[in-house]
Parts: sequence; C-alpha cells; structure tokens
Amino acid sequence: METFPWWSESQIQLANDAKKIVDEVLIPIGTRSALENTFSREAVKLMAGQGWFGALVPKKYGGHFEQWGVTGAAILNEEVARAGVAGPLGTTMFGSAAQLLHSGNDAQKDKWLPSMAHGELLGCITMTEPYAGSDIASIESTAVREGDHYVINGKKRFQTTVAAADLYLCYFQTSNKPEDRAAYRHLSAFVVEKGAPGFHVEKINDMIGMFGNYNGNLSFDDARVPVFNRLGQEGDGWKIMMGGLNVERILNGAPVLGAMRECIRYAQQHLERRLQFGRPVGDIATNQFKISDMISKLYLSRLMVYYASYCADLGRDVPIEAAVSKLFAADSLMETVLEAIQCMGGNGVLKMYPVQRIMQDAKLSQIAAGTSEVLKLLIYRQGTKRMKEDLKVPQRIIDEDLNVPLPLGKPPVKMTVKSEMDVLNVLAENYLVNPGLHMNMDDIREWIEVSDADLATCLEGLEAKGNAGLYRTRHGIALARITLSGLQAAHPPEYYRHIPKWADPKDMF
Ligand SMILES: Cc1cc2nc3c(=O)[nH]c(=O)nc-3n(C[C@H](O)[C@H](O)[C@H](O)COP(=O)(O)OP(=O)(O)OC[C@H]3O[C@@H](n4cnc5c(N)ncnc54)[C@H](O)[C@@H]3O)c2cc1C
Repeated sequence: METFPWWSESQIQLANDAKKIVDEVLIPIGTRSALENTFSREAVKLMAGQGWFGALVPKKYGGHFEQWGVTGAAILNEEVARAGVAGPLGTTMFGSAAQLLHSGNDAQKDKWLPSMAHGELLGCITMTEPYAGSDIASIESTAVREGDHYVINGKKRFQTTVAAADLYLCYFQTSNKPEDRAAYRHLSAFVVEKGAPGFHVEKINDMIGMFGNYNGNLSFDDARVPVFNRLGQEGDGWKIMMGGLNVERILNGAPVLGAMRECIRYAQQHLERRLQFGRPVGDIATNQFKISDMISKLYLSRLMVYYASYCADLGRDVPIEAAVSKLFAADSLMETVLEAIQCMGGNGVLKMYPVQRIMQDAKLSQIAAGTSEVLKLLIYRQGTKRMKEDLKVPQRIIDEDLNVPLPLGKPPVKMTVKSEMDVLNVLAENYLVNPGLHMNMDDIREWIEVSDADLATCLEGLEAKGNAGLYRTRHGIALARITLSGLQAAHPPEYYRHIPKWADPKDMF
C-alpha cells in the first residue's frame, strides 16, 4: 500500500503489516467465503488477533485509537476489502465503536469497548427502516420508557453484518411532538444487544454482491432494552447519528480503494500477458488510457479518503470531507470496475476472478451509507454554507469610461435610507450590473444602511406601486427586482443605454 507523508510511524507500520497479512492469509480465506457465500468467522478471528477491531477504541479499553485513529481504521478497511471481508470490521467500527467513543458514558464504554476492541463483540449500524431510507429522520420505530427499561416496537431494514453482530446501534423515535420533530430532537440512540427479549432477525436479504456477509432486516416486538443502553440523553439521536455517519462514510470510502486496487492489478495482469494481433493488448493505447484513468481515480479517491480521515483525527467536524470522499470513491469504483472488466474481455466476467464480484459490490457502495444523490444534496447544502465567504461576488458598479460593470474592490460607504427611492435606485443599478438577477436582502444592504423592518416596508411600498417584484419564502421577502415602471420611475431611458464603442453609431437607433 502506498503510504502518505503525513502518516505516523505506527500508521505506516500498520499499513505494511496489514498488506502482508491480507495478501498471504486473508485473500485466500475471503475468496473462499465469497464463493461459498458464507460468513467467515475465520476472517473475523484473524483480524481480531491482530487487534484491528480496536482501531477506534482507546488504549485504556484495549484498543489502538491513539496510535491508529480514523486513519488507521481507513487503512485497515482499504486493505481488508481486497480480501472482500471488510464488512464486519467496518460495521463494528462505525456501527458502535465510534458512537460509543463519542457519546457513551464511562460505564457503557467499560462494558462494551474492551470486547469490541478484541473482536469478541461485532457491531451493526441500525438506521434504515421499511419506510425510512434516504429520509432517515422519518424513522417510525418507537422506544417508550417503562421504569428502567424501554419497550421497543418497529422494523429495521438492510442492516449489514446483521445476525453475525452482537451489538446493534439503533435509532428509535422517543418523541412524536411536532416541536421535537422540527428541532430533530425526536430520536434517541440505543445499543441493543443480541438476545434482548423481543428482538429478532426478520429476514436475510439475497442481493447482488456482499457475498460472505449478511445483510438483513430486524424486528422489535415489545423488545425490552435497559435504560442503561441509551447513548446520551433522550433526543440526542439525530446528533449522534450525524456524527457517526461522518466516520461511516469515510470507512465506506476506504474499502472502495482496496477494491479499485484489485481491479487495476487484475486488468494490468491481463493486458501484459494477453497477446492479440501479434502483440500484448496492453500495447494498445486505448487500453493504456483505461488503466491511466483507473490510476488517476484511485489516487484522487485515496487523497480524499485519507484527507477526511486526517481531519477527523484532528477532531474536526467533517461532513463535507466525508461525503465527498465516499461519493467520489464509490462513483470512481463503479467506473473503474467496468473498465477493468472491459480490459480483461471475457475473463473479466468469470467468477474465477474477483473483478466481477467487485462490480456487484460497486453498485452497493453507491447506495449504502447515503446514496450518491443524497450525498450530493448534503455537499450542496453544507458546502455552500461553509464556502459562504468565498462565494460572495464583489460589488460592481458601471465604469463611466468603459461603460461596463467593474468590481469595486473595497466595499462602498453605505448610504442611509431616507425614502423608498433610495431602495429603488439600488434595484435600478442592479438591473445594469447583474442583468436578469434579483437581489437578496444582504445584497441590498451592502449599498444602504437600513434595518430589516424598514427595508421590508420600503420593498412592500415599491411592490404596491408596481415598481418592484418580490419573491417570498416562509421566512419573508427573499429576493427583489425592479419592474418596468420602477425603471421608468428611477431614471430616464438614456440612463440604461449601453452602446459599446465598436458599434457603428449609424446603426444605433
Ligand atoms: C448494500 C447495502 C448495505 C446497507 N447497509 C446498511 C446498514 O448497515 N445499516 C442501515 O441502517 N442501512 C443500510 N443500508 C440502507 C441504505 O443506507 C439505504 O438503502 C440508503 O440510505 C437509501 O435508502 P433507500 O434504499 O430507502 O432508497 P430511497 O430513499 O428509496 O431512494 C431511492 C432513490 O431516490 C433518490 N433520492 C431519495 N431522496 C432523494 C432526494 N431528496 N434528492 C435526490 N434523490 C433522492 C436516492 O438517491 C435513490 O436513488 C444498506 C443498503 C445497502 C444497499
């Protein structure tokens, strides 16, 4: 595995050790487990023996968090995915350990983390329901407190490592008050242990890919869970879920990297050794371009996954980094594996090579832990918020010589609003400087000193006279523009004329 210059000695050592063990022991085990489609306890035991389940568990609980951290967890998931057995490792890390670490109390950590670190308790992340997928806030399962227990009813769907796992990090509704729902305080997080009364596996899903691991549905029928098992306070569920999803997305991007490496090595093996038309097919430039694209995608995906991991290890909140890394890596794997199969011709679709299996898993990775579309939505919302300052365009005014809008540089001295006309003049200038665009309230206030209430009064006054058009949201006036009669009221028609010097005056009427 290629290492990054910012990795610590321990992380580099971990990467080297993991690669050796994966190549020598885990790939043979994982290949058999995938072909037979059986959950490999042998692989779990081997990984547990290396302490790998403890990457996110602090030393005092028997783990290696201080040495390895999220970066180490990503390194392990990348390597182990080459053997196709990353499922239980990942779900234990992001489906209990991460949430316990950040939101568990001391007694909860004492109870569960040591066994998790040693791979004796496997974890499972339990969010999705039959009627709550991308809109995960709409979880319907309920947890109702009765004394020192919660009584839980509902169904969960699509859980990875279901049945094999011992601890299920679950989210249930603990309030149906509209105000709690509006404030995302309606969910709570619980650790539900295998064996809890009323808690059952309902179904094991048969799906493309994910061979050698379980994915399935759970049923809670008056299941009883001690209050002790609730993480944080009632209502903290959404916050815990969102924090957990950042780690989950990084650790869903990491296995994709290992899968991409497998694709590239099998494609390259074929290209170097397959002769057609009297020469290796790898001599054909279009095949070389395919490998080149695969390597570029791998490099970019690795950079993003390990940058997100690094930021998470620094303790930063990483919703955008985690989403970008998972989105880019998963989409890149899908493209890479299709091209790898194309490079290999018929061999690419034979079950005796891992590439066809990776193709099936690639589709899953574009859906699990947030679909590519949902991640794009998140990146749009969070990204535009975080980039707010960078996205501000400079204020511009019409340059008298050039007769075009030029950036102003330093913000203008703001004029105090005395009448509606001052606001109308700002809208009129915007007609010239940003043709066809409305102004938001901040845009207007960059030119004039005015309170929110006075600005709204002026705009409503202009609207009533037909001089301004307003666009309202549920928060009030959001956008404003000048109308034709507004333009006429603000300035004579010549004011708006712009004829460039190169235009023949004879043609201008
Ligand atoms: C292999 C696999 C493993 C999984 N493992 C787990 C697990 O361990 N634990 C767990 O809790 N869940 C798990 N899931 C569930 C997974 O998180 C959901 O499948 C996923 O969040 C999408 O939900 P959905 O399937 O209900 O799709 P839907 O929400 O029904 O979406 C259908 C389509 O609409 C699109 N869409 C939905 N909303 C929007 C929107 N607002 N804007 C644009 N597009 C939108 C989606 O992108 C998708 O293309 C797993 C799923 C798979 C396939």
